[in-house]
Amino acid sequence: DPPRRQTPDDDLVALRAWQRPLRAQFPIITAHPGLAYLDSAATSQKPQAVLDAVLSYLTTSNANAGRGTYPWANATTALVEAARDRVKSFLRDPRPERSAVHFTSGTTEGLRAVARDWLTTFLTDGDEIVVPFADHRANLAPWLEARDLLARRGIGVRVRALPCQEGSGDYDPAALAAQLTPRTRFIAATHVHHVYGADMNVHRLREVAGPAVPICLDAAQSVGHLPVSTDRLDVDFVVFSGHKALALPGTGAVWARGLRGPRFRPGGWQGTPNTAGIAGLAAALDWLDAAGTDRIERWTVALAARLTDGLGRLDAYEVLGCRESLSAASRVQRRRSIVTFRHRAISSTDLGFILYSHGFMVRSDHHCQAGAPAGGEDGSVRVSLHVHNTPEEIDALVSTLTSLQ
Ligand code: PLP
Repeated sequence: DPPRRQTPDDDLVALRAWQRPLRAQFPIITAHPGLAYLDSAATSQKPQAVLDAVLSYLTTSNANAGRGTYPWANATTALVEAARDRVKSFLRDPRPERSAVHFTSGTTEGLRAVARDWLTTFLTDGDEIVVPFADHRANLAPWLEARDLLARRGIGVRVRALPCQEGSGDYDPAALAAQLTPRTRFIAATHVHHVYGADMNVHRLREVAGPAVPICLDAAQSVGHLPVSTDRLDVDFVVFSGHKALALPGTGAVWARGLRGPRFRPGGWQGTPNTAGIAGLAAALDWLDAAGTDRIERWTVALAARLTDGLGRLDAYEVLGCRESLSAASRVQRRRSIVTFRHRAISSTDLGFILYSHGFMVRSDHHCQAGAPAGGEDGSVRVSLHVHNTPEEIDALVSTLTSLQ
């Protein structure tokens, strides 16, 4: 007999002993055994190590960074600089001496900083940029604002849409090629789609765009969920939210590549950084590397596949994104840790309330998607997973969804 094909469930069996002690490290999860947190794409829960790092910083050396010469101030400055290095090593930066890390409150502010502090100084009259029109609004508005700001200065910039493929939702490299012109100076893309859960195959964008065009990656839904290697992806900016990667609310970062790509010159030490949040972010990245982002990816992808398979058996539901048979292994593997769906008769808002009455915390709205929402005016229900989620939670959710058919 040919060897049996690996299924996502095999990963759940193989990784169970690894996952259990990790789940136990999330105090809010263990304190609420009757509830299933299925909204990690909105914000993540925090492991004890992150809470400890924040408390330890605030109770040992809290001071301002980049100013002051007494030991607490020096310790805080050193903490922030070490956290910059930690972001670089987490993103597998092969040339850390040539890149910059700028701390922000999240992806929205990070993308804005790239647009405002760099793109508006980089573009000249007649240039073109290619940006996604059906991803998160945070990855469209800043580029349009940059265009409008430049227009007021008499610099005309054309914005073109980065096309997605029908069905799978990921980017279409051939369609991108059709949008590129000799005047293309910048491409914005998303690593994992926040509604479709699709891996957008961004490594293929570089092949099409060639080496000279800077690419900015919205990695809000990939950092903390899967290995993100700036080297492998060959992009110039990686923007992410710390709070979606197990760190505190109000944290995030922009990584900007140095020599080969453009230089990013954010504010330096202007203003007081969120030092406690940065302490927590460094601890979260330590925690994620120790747990293994490759295993977190396998675990959550397997849970998402279990849910899409379950939904695929229920006629009352329509899953957004991949429209082909969801049980085909190649399709399932493309979906990361997000599954978004609609009930054909129950409104998504109502479904969200009903699911909470059964203990499931999901998101139900339009998910801040740019353009026409994928689920229509009524929106959709999004289930997004992290390492603390379990197959039992997925099975209970599928059984509740079955009872609502
Ligand atoms: N980009 C994507 C793909 C997202 O999913 C989100 C979060 O919802 C954002 C950007 C905005 O992130 P934040 O709210 O941390 O600024």
